[in-house]
Amino acid sequence: MAPVIRFHNTLGGRVEEFVPLEPGKVKLYTCGPTVYDFPHIGNWRAYVFEDLLKRFLLYRGFAVSHVMNITDVDDKTIRGANASGVGLDEYTRPFIEAFQAERAKLNILPADHYPRATDPESIRGMAAIIRTLLDKGFAYRKDGSIYFAIDRFPAYGRLSKIDLEGRRPGIRGDADEYEKESVHDFALWKAPKEGEPSWETEIGPGRPGWHIECSAMSMRYFGPTFDIHCGGVDNIFPHHENEIAQSEAANGVTFVKYWLHAHHLVVDGEKMSKSKGNFYRLADVLARGYEPAEVRFLLLSTHYRKTLNFTDEALAQARTSRDRLRNFLFELRHIERDLPPNPAVAAAAETARAGFAAGLEDDLNISEALAALFELVRGVNALVSRGTVGRADARRVIGLLGEIDGGVLGCLTGEVPAKGKAEGEAEASGAADVLEAGLQALLDARQKARAARDFARADALRRELLEAGIVLEDTKDGVRWKRARPAGP
Ligand code: AMP
Ligand code: ZN
Repeated sequence: MAPVIRFHNTLGGRVEEFVPLEPGKVKLYTCGPTVYDFPHIGNWRAYVFEDLLKRFLLYRGFAVSHVMNITDVDDKTIRGANASGVGLDEYTRPFIEAFQAERAKLNILPADHYPRATDPESIRGMAAIIRTLLDKGFAYRKDGSIYFAIDRFPAYGRLSKIDLEGRRPGIRGDADEYEKESVHDFALWKAPKEGEPSWETEIGPGRPGWHIECSAMSMRYFGPTFDIHCGGVDNIFPHHENEIAQSEAANGVTFVKYWLHAHHLVVDGEKMSKSKGNFYRLADVLARGYEPAEVRFLLLSTHYRKTLNFTDEALAQARTSRDRLRNFLFELRHIERDLPPNPAVAAAAETARAGFAAGLEDDLNISEALAALFELVRGVNALVSRGTVGRADARRVIGLLGEIDGGVLGCLTGEVPAKGKAEGEAEASGAADVLEAGLQALLDARQKARAARDFARADALRRELLEAGIVLEDTKDGVRWKRARPAGP
């Protein structure tokens, strides 16, 4: 029997079994960047969560079709372009490029499609939905703009569970973003205005409101209904509430089966955001000596429905935890003895594999999943200390971690950076850096043990050096050493 996967569905407000519309296939839409500025670490939290979700579904054997939109026309992009005195396209280009470059650095798998709101096909799709909404009486025209009448859609508010007492039918708002307290008819299509881009369409000239963009871009690839829609919790209202209203009113069918939302990344208790000025970009964190994979590990390792407090301690903790897994892998790679298989290693590996998957099946419980891996480290290390782990067993465990990392975590492998060097450049002995006398003595003792074929002692000494931050590498020209990491941020 296939294991059950459960996700917290914002729509039902509870954890539900995940059953895709079509067996074995998942249609996933994630709200992409509004490219009026560079992405910050808070944005990356949402995108890394979505990557974990997608990678886990792939790992579980689903064929995932993933669409992420690029919001390249809305109130904020227009404001930014006007303030800079350039066209929308020129203004948004560097932000789109930065988004893609940072996405790759954080090892986030690319989406299958990145439609832009300004693509002619997107605009046509938006106009077609709005045409249907006008025809069905869910939308009305006022002063050249077109609004969605929320009181004509009885399910309005189901996702965000807003208090409809405060509902103000007939009151209109043009802004893309507004507070829950001012529930009102929202703009689907905005009348042409001096200083704003405008498109000629079947519903007349103008430009889209933000919310209609995602309805049109998801429908373009998935049709009227798809499996999973994600974003940060700030997207629940009004953005996703409005997407549901427009899409379901137009198509008469359920828009999305599962809504998954990442909670915020906060700084000193406040949501990291451009408007609050409390944001860090990925580059700011890398400049402090962290690797992209360490940032990915941090963003990944807090459950997506918990607030992530972005602090120095959290970064340092992520580094320590990731190092533990990496050092374990490194050590396994250097086990040289051929020993008969130890059934305890196979058992520990299988327990870890099952525990990792079971954690993620349970609403992406990453803490549980990682705990299964740390338990593997503890158990296998104990066996290594007893000298009962040979090369074949070590390879088995490396294989398992490789599968888990390559498939899901995406942040364990890669070069260990050397002291004071740029990413990926390893520094070997013989360079300016000199090993401290005590450590050199350990290294000498390890070489002696190795020459005497006392591999258990050689392995123990290697471990001791590793704990002191010295990584050994046996090459055909003899042993080389490097520092496990730069001196610190
Ligand atoms: P935006 O570019 O503002 O449309 O946001 C892109 C994505 O980042 C959306 O899914 C937001 O919900 C998400 N997001 C923005 N700020 C944060 C934050 N501080 N923590 C987590 N997610 C965020
Ligand atoms: Zn969206």
